[in-house]
Amino acid sequence: QSDIAVSALAINPRRGGPKNLPILEIFLDDDDSEEARRHKDKPRLVILGGGWGGVSLLKELAPDNYHVTVISPANYFLFTPMLPSATVGTLGLRSLVEPIRRIIHGVGGHYLRARAEDVDFSSRLIEVSQTDCNGNEQRFYVPYDKLVIAVGSVTNPHGVKGLENCHFLKDINDARDIRNKIIQNLELACLPTTTDEERKRLLSFVVSGGGPTGVEFAAELFDLLNEDLIELFPKLLRNEISVHLIQSRDHILNTYDETLSKYAEERFARDQVEVLTNSRVSEVRRDSIIFTQKGEDGKIITKELPMGFCLWSTGVSQNEFCKRIAKKLGPAQTNRHALETDTHLRLNGTPLGDVYAIGDCATVQNNVADHIVSFLRSLAWKHGSDPENLQLRFDDWRSVAEQVKKRFPQAAAHLKRLDKLFAEYDRDQSGTLNFSELRELLKQIDNKLTSLPATAQRAHQQGQYLAHKFNKLARATPGLKANDIREGDLDAAVYKAFEYKHLGSLAYIGNSAVFDLGRGRGLAGGLWAVYAWRSIYFAQSVSFRTRMLMAMDWAKRGLFGRDLMSY
Ligand code: FAD
Repeated sequence: QSDIAVSALAINPRRGGPKNLPILEIFLDDDDSEEARRHKDKPRLVILGGGWGGVSLLKELAPDNYHVTVISPANYFLFTPMLPSATVGTLGLRSLVEPIRRIIHGVGGHYLRARAEDVDFSSRLIEVSQTDCNGNEQRFYVPYDKLVIAVGSVTNPHGVKGLENCHFLKDINDARDIRNKIIQNLELACLPTTTDEERKRLLSFVVSGGGPTGVEFAAELFDLLNEDLIELFPKLLRNEISVHLIQSRDHILNTYDETLSKYAEERFARDQVEVLTNSRVSEVRRDSIIFTQKGEDGKIITKELPMGFCLWSTGVSQNEFCKRIAKKLGPAQTNRHALETDTHLRLNGTPLGDVYAIGDCATVQNNVADHIVSFLRSLAWKHGSDPENLQLRFDDWRSVAEQVKKRFPQAAAHLKRLDKLFAEYDRDQSGTLNFSELRELLKQIDNKLTSLPATAQRAHQQGQYLAHKFNKLARATPGLKANDIREGDLDAAVYKAFEYKHLGSLAYIGNSAVFDLGRGRGLAGGLWAVYAWRSIYFAQSVSFRTRMLMAMDWAKRGLFGRDLMSY
């Protein structure tokens, strides 16, 4: 990596772009050696976001092919699956984070602590904002040849009033604030001047949202209250403390297999965590939460629950940056919750096909039409012909359909419909179909498959996918240029479409854990499951350093209890 070290980021004296802002450039040595020239020609790959998607991409990227720049307001990667454990002091905050600079070192890239505000797709410029040392906002452009948007999501407010009275759990600072608030409430509840009613309210903890994050937080909170507080806060009676989980659906963990969500509910009932299903929060006040609940008779009643703490954890939606660029891309972006990409993870609607979106901020328009079109393109490319001039006879189509089916089993039902359409179009089965006619037929099919989950698992797979593709693209590009393949077709020609492989979902539910393995298979259990849950995340943790810190935290907790100081 010696040649990589000579590059540096600096503001170019020239201004430009639609807003005439300064432009940041990568400056390189003036060395005229062949090595230096090759280095200068490398494409600029900019990654927005240093979360699961961005970091998985960085970790798999070959070091020598791109000038890599990561832009993110947080200079660390956060291991989110263990974040609920940090809210109650089971794990330390530092055990869950790894500096981006340490990760980016592997590819010899640059990190900029800044926030992407906008993108000018036609001039390949990202508008970035940053607060300077005088506290003033500075804006400039960062040019790119390839851009990956991996900026995650924000908590979905669902239009509910009073969310300023809630805590969120997305970032390390949120975990710190939650821990401080819990401890503050416990200390206030112990004061001799606190009335009985006020004490009960302070010790009423509400979690809104019965998905994995809400459930895991409730479980961790329950552990804290049961294992540490009885001893450390003897004045507090266990029956004065209450934990309530409000869920809009009829079960918690509703994306998991039904037996597992029932198991979790039974476990919570035993642990005295009150689960309120079929309940929707309508307002959060400073000291109470208002919600409606649908009874078994179908009647909806409004209830008020006094509370001293509320966690809002009800799914994700788009951040302002993504909303801005989705609006810019117009009708190519129709999803209100995430940026739409094709199956090669390219952002739909960009003019140059050089922008990708992965992770929580993106959704794959996983339509079979895309699979088939890109498959045909790569097939044509392999046979040395231009896809646009492809002529398919009915017989050809049958064999292509068989190959598509093998590769994308989820396309089978759609292929059947396509077969029918083909037959209708070409009744005597003697004619041919060209590529654009086939595309038209494909358009007639309602081909959207179910959207993928917003999980670390998906962001990780997409980051890895892009890294492998970029590595391959960097190797293949010269040959492809010679074959005169247009830029937009390169991805499909050199690499397969993205396919998500669901490896199962885990959730900690308080001295026990559930594992949803997909297709109706699941496991649930006590201590062994907790150790299995810990081992899986321990193995997935981002570095040796964080693994060591996590192991030390668990040992400390076992020996001395949780860290219950607020600071
Ligand atoms: P993130 O990991 O959120 O990263 C986004 C990055 O973009 C951050 O670095 C952020 O600073 C940066 N950014 C934001 N705005 C901008 C901008 N304008 N410009 C530049 N950078 C920006 N998933 C699982 O699979 N299993 C679990 O057990 C699990 N547990 C979870 C527990 C909690 C408490 C939470 C909050 C999430 C959990 N998830 C879990 C979900 C998982 O964390 C997300 O799906 C995953 O983080 C998505 O990865 P991402 O790269 O898309 O976004």
